[in-house]
Amino acid sequence: MKAARFYDREDIRIDEVPEPTVGPGEVGIDVAWCGICGTDLHEYKDGPVFCPTHSTPHPISGETAPVTLGHEFSGVVYALGDGVEDLRVGDHVVVEPYIIDDSVDTGPDSKDYHLSENMNFIGLAGRGGGLGEKISVKRRWVHAISQDLPLDQAALIEPLSVGYHAVERSGAKAGDVAVIGGAGPIGLLTAAVLKAIGCTVVVSELSPLRRQKALESGVADHALDPTQVDVAEEVRKLSSDGRGADVAFECTSVQVVLDTLMDALRPTGVLVVVSIWAQRSNFDIHKLVMKEIDLRGTIAYVNSHPATIELVESGKIDLAPFITGKIAVENLVDEGFDTLINRNETAVKILVSPSGQGL
Ligand SMILES: [Zn+2]
Repeated sequence: MKAARFYDREDIRIDEVPEPTVGPGEVGIDVAWCGICGTDLHEYKDGPVFCPTHSTPHPISGETAPVTLGHEFSGVVYALGDGVEDLRVGDHVVVEPYIIDDSVDTGPDSKDYHLSENMNFIGLAGRGGGLGEKISVKRRWVHAISQDLPLDQAALIEPLSVGYHAVERSGAKAGDVAVIGGAGPIGLLTAAVLKAIGCTVVVSELSPLRRQKALESGVADHALDPTQVDVAEEVRKLSSDGRGADVAFECTSVQVVLDTLMDALRPTGVLVVVSIWAQRSNFDIHKLVMKEIDLRGTIAYVNSHPATIELVESGKIDLAPFITGKIAVENLVDEGFDTLINRNETAVKILVSPSGQGL
């Protein structure tokens, strides 16, 4: 079967690889669609970051490069390993793509398995990936979805779960004013969750096309251009008592955005940093002290998939507007990565069909 594999920085190849064997407790999945993530682009341009090198195996998967890429995917069950009795061949599924040590409690009440030592992701650190035609995944990480939910939209449940967990971390509730810095894929999907739970959502974004997407998709009530308006001032006007936003989400890893969000927050507001910062921040600690701001990190998701799937299946979130392209795996780098790196204003999620079906 075909699979896109990461060898090294700027070296991703479409290889012919053996189909996976479906071991005991595993689920064989025919991949329908796999989204390209900013993390994949980062591996390609600056990696390996999450991916293992040729010489140092990942401590849990035991694998070295090359590894199959792709962690945002949906598919159809084609085989069940011994002991898997609560799924059927033909079921539609999505994957919560974790590689976590077997000793870690990943039960439904765990709130921190995603923070365990050497945690990594299927599709980055081994165990196959959604950019291969088939994959075998431990039952724990497979989530069944309704057959009524189109499989292309289902591929966006993984990044939507990132937004879901970020919103959970913020403590946002219905009626709150939420401001998001940056309307890239994660900013937009975080907005979608906030809107679905009844927040007033304000997006601050430089790109007119991204602002338009935020408004047209219905996930933002207001989309501000930070070069044209004082975002903090506008957000204060939108809050009922004029004191600012209840919650803010930093989705750019840009210093000025962090500063703007600090100013837009009300005293005692919560600032969640969603983006991955490669550089240190020059953060105004004094402002944090004087406004009693809660600054919180968020990474990936933890037991977030069931509630995220419910938001989509119930129709509270429509993922269709965020699919902006569909390509064959052979065009992953030339077309997919190139668009997202060089012409990313109109692209939100580009989906890949590893088998070519559905294109
Ligand atoms: Zn991702």
